[in-house]
Amino acid sequence: MDVVFGTCPDCETNLKWPQDATFIRCPNCKHEFQVSNPIQRTQLYQKGKRIFVIGLLILISYFGLSAIAIFGSGDGLAILYLMPIVLVGSTVSLFGLIYMAYDKFSNGDRMVVGELAGIVFFVVSFVSVYQMLTGFNGIV
Ligand SMILES: [Zn+2]
Repeated sequence: MDVVFGTCPDCETNLKWPQDATFIRCPNCKHEFQVSNPIQRTQLYQKGKRIFVIGLLILISYFGLSAIAIFGSGDGLAILYLMPIVLVGSTVSLFGLIYMAYDKFSNGDRMVVGELAGIVFFVVSFVSVYQMLTGFNGIV
């Protein structure tokens, strides 16, 4: 278990406590105070956010690549050839969002509406892309 170093806000004695502790009693002056680990929380949340942004960039690159492919080859089905890029981008974004929501939730933050809406959006996109692919396969 990781240990956090800090000082008592009352007598400024140097203290250390387990990372998951929330309530500390100073052994020197018996002062009780609450602690949180905002730095660690931010790092975890930022990690999820980075994953999410990478997924979005992959998704955006799909539109650029498919535009180039259609323009270059004159083949409208290039959109389908490049579909795996969408699936990879969506999957990465989805994992990022789940990470963000999980991190918020585990830190006692129940305001995960935005993250959950994103997760639902990506799951719906998955289903519609899947249906579109199977539909096209039926024609070809
Ligand atoms: Zn103290």
